[in-house]
Amino acid sequence: MRLLIVKDENDLRNIVKKVLSRNITVQMSREWSRSAGLHQYDFLRCFRLLHSEIGNDHLRYIHVLHVGFDNQVHEGELVVNKDIADDVLEIFKELYESEYQIEKVRFIDEYDADDEASMSDNNSSAFNFRFISHTTKISKHGMGMAVDINTLYNPYVKTVDGELSIEPANAADYVDRSRDFSHKIDHDDLCYKLFTEHGFEWGGDWTHSKDYQHFEK
Ligand SMILES: [Zn+2]
Repeated sequence: MRLLIVKDENDLRNIVKKVLSRNITVQMSREWSRSAGLHQYDFLRCFRLLHSEIGNDHLRYIHVLHVGFDNQVHEGELVVNKDIADDVLEIFKELYESEYQIEKVRFIDEYDADDEASMSDNNSSAFNFRFISHTTKISKHGMGMAVDINTLYNPYVKTVDGELSIEPANAADYVDRSRDFSHKIDHDDLCYKLFTEHGFEWGGDWTHSKDYQHFEK
């Protein structure tokens, strides 16, 4: 379990306020956490607090239909920021009507808010309070402003200290994007077209890392 170290409830509320005002570069410095007299709040507790506070005004629950890898119709649940709720509904409607296959769309809570567990299970999701991998910055997912699709087949790849980091860890087969395989998001993919038409940025277009599953606004 990851720990978010704060001094007291007020600190936590200030963090929430910064998140709400979209100052998403909130820093959790090691020096701060090492300072004397700090109380520790575990990650899930912060997650729940943020979830309830942001949820009141800024998050929307979305219920979608999607076509699974079994070609059957499935129900999915997403939590997104209200600013992208209409976009995401329209995109999922078009994906469904085009019979675009998305395996699972489940609450991250079903994976105890563990992104690696969700990704390795190929779950598609949106809101989750978390930091950008290898940084102390709050992810766009922490704002509900990003959506990840078919995560196992579209991993997040970055070189860290000279070594290739792959998330989820079981996605090594899908790192080489020149290979042909099902559920691969690329520039010809319908997901890419719909999200970018709605003004989203695709993580596969980033240069410092590649996040093929990721669309954010
Ligand atoms: Zn993402």
